[in-house]
Amino acid sequence: MKQYVRIICAILCCLVIAGCGPNEVKTSEQTQEPQKNPAPVVKAEKKPAQIGRDINPETLQIPVLMYHSINSNVKNNLITPPNEFEEQMKWLVDNDYHTLTLASLTEMLKTGQGVPDKPVVITFDDGYQDNYTNAYPILKKYGLKANIFVITDKIAKNNHFDEVALKEMSDYGLEMDSHTVHHFELNTLSYDEQLRELKDSKATLERLTDKKVNSICYPVGRYNEDTVRAAEASGYAMGFTTESGKANKNKGMYTLPRVRMVPGMSMESAVK
Ligand SMILES: [Zn+2]
Repeated sequence: MKQYVRIICAILCCLVIAGCGPNEVKTSEQTQEPQKNPAPVVKAEKKPAQIGRDINPETLQIPVLMYHSINSNVKNNLITPPNEFEEQMKWLVDNDYHTLTLASLTEMLKTGQGVPDKPVVITFDDGYQDNYTNAYPILKKYGLKANIFVITDKIAKNNHFDEVALKEMSDYGLEMDSHTVHHFELNTLSYDEQLRELKDSKATLERLTDKKVNSICYPVGRYNEDTVRAAEASGYAMGFTTESGKANKNKGMYTLPRVRMVPGMSMESAVK
């Protein structure tokens, strides 16, 4: 009797399995059959999330801060002590400022689109070792973005950070931009010499970071008409001087001014 029940069960199981197989195939076949009256496909419009608002680019003014060394060992007008630098970064966060990188600044200046409230750009010139040891930890602590203008011939020399530090900061999100190969005053060079300084430094940084280099800042703020032509020909989107003021497209995308940060300066006065 028991054996009879087992046989019945086995037959039933086979029927169920046999029934399932073809049905599953049929189901998937059915989905591939063209529907006679397909329902209209409503595609949700995927607009990128709008950050910020649109501002007339003619009137848009964005402060690009210019730091050099962040150090307490030496005192001069280009060196900001780390505690002062941290106070300034904290002030930006406490007052709801939004740090931009130069890569995102280009389109913003040209179009005025997607400008966040209280925009500010933090830049460092020369690529000093203390940018890595002193400024970078503070920028990370407050979640701030920044750009460093690197002199490529000075990488890992004297008090300048090396390729490993450069790559680490780049991978983290700090942007590396060009401050030429040798830090020559560009207005003393021929067009071809300038072009070489601009192109070679860009190529070196792009090789080291695996990222496109967006901007150049001219050593000691010296430049001439050839510099502007060479910057454009080298593929830079923007060029920065050491002239004082806020960035606006009418200043010229290759002659943009910055706000010089000197010791004892309040961030409030720098960004207003
Ligand atoms: Zn410099």
